[in-house]
Amino acid sequence: MAGEAPLLEAETTWDYLLERGLVPAGSTGTAREVGDGNMNRVFVAVPDAGGPGLAVKQAPPWIRALGPDAPMSPERAMVEARALAAFAAFAPEQTPAVLDVDPDRFAFTMEDLSDLTILRTALDAGARYGSTSTQVGDLVGRVTFATSAAGASAQERADLVARSLNPVLAAVTERYLLSEPLTAHENNSNHPALDAEVAALRADPAVRTAVSALRVAFGTSFQALVHGDLHAGSVMVGSRGDATTVRVIDPEFAVVGPVGLDLGLYLAGVVLATARAHALGDDELAAERADQARLLWEAFTAAWERAWPQRADPFLDDGWLREHLASVWWDALGFAGVELVRRVAGYSHASDLETLPDPGPASARVLAAARTLLVDRAALCGPGGVPDPAAVTALVAPDGR
Ligand code: ADP
Ligand code: MG
Repeated sequence: MAGEAPLLEAETTWDYLLERGLVPAGSTGTAREVGDGNMNRVFVAVPDAGGPGLAVKQAPPWIRALGPDAPMSPERAMVEARALAAFAAFAPEQTPAVLDVDPDRFAFTMEDLSDLTILRTALDAGARYGSTSTQVGDLVGRVTFATSAAGASAQERADLVARSLNPVLAAVTERYLLSEPLTAHENNSNHPALDAEVAALRADPAVRTAVSALRVAFGTSFQALVHGDLHAGSVMVGSRGDATTVRVIDPEFAVVGPVGLDLGLYLAGVVLATARAHALGDDELAAERADQARLLWEAFTAAWERAWPQRADPFLDDGWLREHLASVWWDALGFAGVELVRRVAGYSHASDLETLPDPGPASARVLAAARTLLVDRAALCGPGGVPDPAAVTALVAPDGR
């Protein structure tokens, strides 16, 4: 029964892997807890004899960071395992390999990624994106096309929607992303220099209307399978051999929802990383980061355009595709806007800004960018509403370009 599954500890993880038949009988190994996440526990186990390790992720029946006083259904681990299977079907290169799913323990075992680094951590340390945004845009494009009305039959989509309902985590998004940061709430905080701007944003009826539309889009649009939490903390990066390795982890928030959500959350991370590079006075790094908006969008649209000739519904025409992609861009901008408000004035702040010598000026620029993303999206499209990714990151450039 939910909540009564024994919890793993570092000391019991190897025995668990033996019990599941995931490591050779009689072998020994050592595990450590690596999870620094808010929600769940992650253990990495390596064989004492050497060789590749395994990672086990388990959802306790509460929120990890808050403890048993904050109960939450451990079913979320099964949501995540199902989402990883769906992502692996369409974007195997960027999806962690899952070896075992254990519904009794609300746990699953996956590829050890400890040789990789969380993207946000790498960016804070000065890393370049390299091909990361291209790979993420490609993943979002492939998964959303394949699960959209263009890529899947009505029956496939009905089955997908039925097995992707995720009301517990959707409620978290509705609260921490799509309402609390936009209101005066005790969980929120901001840099003291931003008090007036934050209050003005929260009091602005145009902002309220824009966020209302995003909330309704999140709750009612069943466009395609989305990751739901695709910020820079959900991407791991590194290199294996000569290749840049990218893995998109942690899709426990996955739902059938608006395609623009994932692009928007990732784009917000690009804006933060760009603002950080500007604040540090590194123009060359800022330029590399600013360009990620374009690379993300190009890889996303390329995946749709590549798959388009084989669409499941041949009635859909090229005009619809153009309009649809433009509307995805529009939504992505809005979701980037709320994510930036959350990171500057909500509960969960961005280390990109917080670890600057003086977070004030960069945070002010990001907040102003968030406002434009919410209420002046036309400024981020070229003539005829064509997406203009460079205009997004230009919002946080000291000279506006
Ligand atoms: P949560 O659901 O609690 O947010 P995450 O999936 O984000 O958990 O994982 C928490 C942390 O654990 C990650 O930031 C990463 O450092 C580490 N981690 C997650 N998956 C793996 C893995 N397969 N291999 C190694 N480390 C991992
Ligand atoms: Mg998480």
